Amino acid sequence: MSDTVKITDIRVVLTAPAGCRLVVVRVDTSEPGLYGWGCATFTQRPLAVKVAVEEYLKPLLVGRDADRIEDIWRTAWVHSYWRNGPVLNNAISGVDMALWDIKGKRAGMPVYQLLGGKCREAAAVYRHADGASPGAVEESVRRWMAEGYRHLRVQMGGYGGRAGDLPKPEGALPGAYYDPAAYARSVPRLFEHLRGTVGFEVELLHDVHERLHPVDAIRLAKELEPYRLFFLEDALAPEDLEYFAAIRSQCATPIAMGELFNHPREWTPLIAGRLIDFIRMHISQMGGLTPARKVAAFAEMYNVRTAWHGPGDVSPIGHACNLHLDLACPNFGVQEWAGFSDALREVFPGCPEVRNGYMYPNARPGLGVDVDEVKAAKYPCASQVDVWTQTRTPDGTAVKP
Ligand code: MG
Repeated sequence: MSDTVKITDIRVVLTAPAGCRLVVVRVDTSEPGLYGWGCATFTQRPLAVKVAVEEYLKPLLVGRDADRIEDIWRTAWVHSYWRNGPVLNNAISGVDMALWDIKGKRAGMPVYQLLGGKCREAAAVYRHADGASPGAVEESVRRWMAEGYRHLRVQMGGYGGRAGDLPKPEGALPGAYYDPAAYARSVPRLFEHLRGTVGFEVELLHDVHERLHPVDAIRLAKELEPYRLFFLEDALAPEDLEYFAAIRSQCATPIAMGELFNHPREWTPLIAGRLIDFIRMHISQMGGLTPARKVAAFAEMYNVRTAWHGPGDVSPIGHACNLHLDLACPNFGVQEWAGFSDALREVFPGCPEVRNGYMYPNARPGLGVDVDEVKAAKYPCASQVDVWTQTRTPDGTAVKP
């Protein structure tokens, strides 16, 4: 093996084995057979990320030393002068994770070893339990518990609840309608039912998904306090961060925040102000493993735990990156996980495995997950105009999804 390994090619693979459009980035090197994969999934705008990687990062980075991850991250971050934002951060993340994958392969070690080694053998994961009624959610919770899960995020009728027959004005535009007031009333009833039936030993979580006005979110956090949540997620929108102080001052419901964040000024005041309990960015959206490991260390100083975003629009490579951080960070809290379908496992050999509520990495060096590009091509990404992000309240007003 030569001392310096240079980047020789960078390209994007788009694939949707489970329906979600995934964006992954392959970095090739001057060392024969040595390459890495990173996650750059911005599922709503995959083609914009592909252009950012192949038309802007590739010409900038081909020929550089693949070992110089920190220098490459900073160079890519400021090279566009205007920085941050989901398209450019995801593009950088694809390269960044791939370089960590390459460094691990060069060292013959899993990435968690490069980060300081394991703090734990596996990461506890939470699953999503949804249903149309409190009884239906209870059934879903019991099914997951029977499979060994001890952390469950409970929702009734999707984020913000499902709208029934709303009194819409004439001519109301089409969209994904919901009723914030009905939603806010329904959540305490759901938790009252669940704690009365499944008890307090299972950890329950809930995602508000920024669907309430700040004062209603404050009241909900207070109303849920007796039900001892593991955390309440995205109670406020990134545009309303100053209201977290009001939640903190009025109740001890644990607060998780951050999946929409992509700028350091969004998370640093919340952590340093001790205003949240869990930080949960989407690691590709914030720029990859390089910034995420720094946030984890910063949060550790303030006793804030990690709960990285892990839905279906994170590729198995992104999930592996979450997991390597989960294993190596003392302040790990819990890991979101949406499950891997057979098609995902087929396209991404080496997917982490979950047993009895814990996620385990494989023993391969790097991030441990490969891509079968022939099989990936069997699941092309369809262009479509999403409806769920065309969210509206009963009078037809467009609101945050
Ligand atoms: Mg969420």
